[in-house]
Amino acid sequence: MSAIESSTSCDIRTILEKQRAAFQDREPYTLEERCELLDRAIGLLVNHEQDIIEALTADFGHRSPGFSKGSEVLSPLATLQQTKAELAEWMRPEQRRARAGEAWVQYQPLGVVGIVTAWNVPGYMVFSGLAGALAAGNRVMIKPSEFTPHTSDLIARLIRSVYAEDEVAVVLGGADVGQAFCGQPFDHLLFTGATSIGKHVLRAAAENLVPVTLELGGKSPTIISRSANFNEAVAKVVIGKLLNAGQLCVAPDYVFVPQESVDAFIGVAKAVVAKFFPTLKDNPDYTSIINTRHFERLQGYLSEARAAGVELIELNAGAEDFSQSPLNKIVPTLLCNPGDDLQVMQDEIFGPLLPIKPYETLSEVIAQINARPRPLALYYFGNDAAEEALVLTRTCSGGVTLNGVMSHASTEGLPFGGVGQSGMGAYHGIDGFRTFSHAKAVLRTAANPA
Ligand code: NAD
Repeated sequence: MSAIESSTSCDIRTILEKQRAAFQDREPYTLEERCELLDRAIGLLVNHEQDIIEALTADFGHRSPGFSKGSEVLSPLATLQQTKAELAEWMRPEQRRARAGEAWVQYQPLGVVGIVTAWNVPGYMVFSGLAGALAAGNRVMIKPSEFTPHTSDLIARLIRSVYAEDEVAVVLGGADVGQAFCGQPFDHLLFTGATSIGKHVLRAAAENLVPVTLELGGKSPTIISRSANFNEAVAKVVIGKLLNAGQLCVAPDYVFVPQESVDAFIGVAKAVVAKFFPTLKDNPDYTSIINTRHFERLQGYLSEARAAGVELIELNAGAEDFSQSPLNKIVPTLLCNPGDDLQVMQDEIFGPLLPIKPYETLSEVIAQINARPRPLALYYFGNDAAEEALVLTRTCSGGVTLNGVMSHASTEGLPFGGVGQSGMGAYHGIDGFRTFSHAKAVLRTAANPA
């Protein structure tokens, strides 16, 4: 059995030992074997698209089926297929220069990789992590989030249906199970979740000197330059913010707008929402907030900002009444220049609220960004090469999309990861393969014939 209902530390250790024994018992998986393991994951996504969409809807209250299909099925499917297509090239030893003899780097599987995932795009995180870890020839143990019980349970059943427990296993449970999981002597640990929890994970991993990749969160800023195609920029920011109702680690968190263009930003944002989300409560494309705790957290940001005199602009084209919102849907709301001391400007928002920060000069924007912890992503809209270069060289974020939002994260050829408080290490594509491999240095010295 590959899935355990709320596993104990002892259960987790038993599976780990079984996987490690199986790993050590034989030659590393060949290219063909790795492709066959990836094919099984591909088969799950192809054959269970509807099950995955329904499980996510059950977990969120309402989840856009189109978004679920794109993010939890098609996107990891593309990742798995691209991984298969490029794997032979990634596995090839790399020749290096040597003063004498022959030198190369040989990529070797690490052994057993642990993967802990968050709730916001659970299918995507499980299958994209799996793609990299299997491609590198490892055994894999996965601990999905307890906040999406239907999806996590489905993932456990699906994985169990195609993988033996010593190939890929799923461990279910809450924070206590996560804690027990991260205390195990894995050969590598990929953790996706909050920065605050990432600190505990790093501490737990240190006990066993387990190398970790931490995929964390943060406040990703967006800059709209005076040189930008303004209407297009506002539309991309607003639509990006409303995907999964803002519950994405790379969602634009807050936006810097030239001070003379704030009214225009509000006008265009209203028009964009009226066009794409004429209604919200019954709109199949508008997703609920995951649970009451997060719904109340977001309402708390709004109440505090309102009490502080911040102007709040609801993007509610149908003038719907949200006083009763049984599905935890929240009205997309712009917050005009909230103070940096307010909670909405301190925490990662992870919801459909968008603070607008008016600015006069770009250097003032860069200073404000650099006064905060390094973000997971940064977005710059503009057509000024000097300004663009300044933003790229003077700020430090996990990744950047220029004249768009979030797309760098789904570009498999790019490493995906944070920096500083937003994480460490990276995966996706060849960078995932390398993260989950040991790059072994080999030197063959010139030997005299026997
Ligand atoms: P979370 O950190 O609360 O939970 C993530 C996982 O960690 C869950 O499986 C949970 O059970 C487990 N966990 C909880 N406490 C633990 C502990 N003490 N030790 C070990 N494991 C523990 O995060 P969340 O609320 O599920 O997700 C939201 C956060 O994740 C946001 O900050 C978001 O930005 C971030 N995130 C980052 C990425 C990325 O790729 N960088 C992607 C998605 C989400």
